[in-house]
Amino acid sequence: MRTLGVDSTTEVSILGKPAAPTPRAAGFLSSSGYTPLRMVEKVLLASPRGYCAGVERAVDTVEQALALYGAPVYVRKQIVHNLHVVHELEERGAIFVDDESEVPEGRTMVLSAHGVAPSVHANAAARELRTIDATCPLVTKVHVQARRYAADGYFVILIGHAGHEEVVGTMGEIPGSIALVESLEDIATLEFPAETRLAYVTQTTLSVEETREVIAALRERFPAIRAPQREDICYATSNRQWAVKELLAAVDLLLVIGSRNSSNSNRLVETAHAGGVASHLIDDESEIDERWLDGVAVVGITSGASAPEKLVQGVCAWFRARGVTEIEEHRFLEENIEFRLPIELRRELELGDAQRAH
Ligand code: SF4
Repeated sequence: MRTLGVDSTTEVSILGKPAAPTPRAAGFLSSSGYTPLRMVEKVLLASPRGYCAGVERAVDTVEQALALYGAPVYVRKQIVHNLHVVHELEERGAIFVDDESEVPEGRTMVLSAHGVAPSVHANAAARELRTIDATCPLVTKVHVQARRYAADGYFVILIGHAGHEEVVGTMGEIPGSIALVESLEDIATLEFPAETRLAYVTQTTLSVEETREVIAALRERFPAIRAPQREDICYATSNRQWAVKELLAAVDLLLVIGSRNSSNSNRLVETAHAGGVASHLIDDESEIDERWLDGVAVVGITSGASAPEKLVQGVCAWFRARGVTEIEEHRFLEENIEFRLPIELRRELELGDAQRAH
């Protein structure tokens, strides 16, 4: 599996922060709503942004399953955390359910990119479901790591957000041998018998900076704690955060396109706030509040790993319609990672190809 480091291929933008915008008068309320007196001069697009390899693969999996087996195809949980993606797949015949028990026996079920506990596979087998596992390989890597630690006698500390599907899945791998830490405060509450051997793993979509602090605090409290060989925060999450950091010096406002339940999108908003730049999470252009643009000369735009590029283009069109002509990419680095479709699907597709060849 290829991974992309942010160090070796970093292409740092030379764009500097533009001159401070000239002070503007406040906007006014017209019959059609709020209208700023002067609009934005430039839009800068963070790059990389949007779909990661795991999301691309998961969405492709549902589309291929629909083409192969016909509608309906059941999908456990949102395949990826984006409302637009989910609605489009629903229109094509996907049925989203919360639990495998809602899928009629013998039908096809796709598991989302966020991964599941082994109990979900067992329940699906008991219902004789045809299961296609679209768990991102980078989430699977964390599951495997957690299982290895537990098998070697370690108690595992998972750094992550309670209730997130990925966290539920990882904790379900080794129940009784894992505890969740969400914040620095949680670390103070951890108590273990003296002989306990500890190791940690993390959710893949966390804030790079915050996680570094939590890990440092864990190491301080438990100096012998074992760390994964490679960091678990995935390439897409860290690259999108780095791209935003590179952009912050050049913008007055950052719009992050992504759904409310998208962990990595929320982290991008936090990255902007930590850098002192106002930022808002929007599902699409319909959620832009023009009041945010008062006194703003340059708007930065990025999108979470589960947001399709057409949503970014919709926001760009919104600015173009308001007279903004300068819309530029602010490239941080190139990503070229791809994951192959789940093995269950590849096997079926290859079988179909072979039959057609005869
Ligand atoms: Fe995989 Fe990272 Fe994308 Fe999640 S955000 S699906 S872990 S590549």
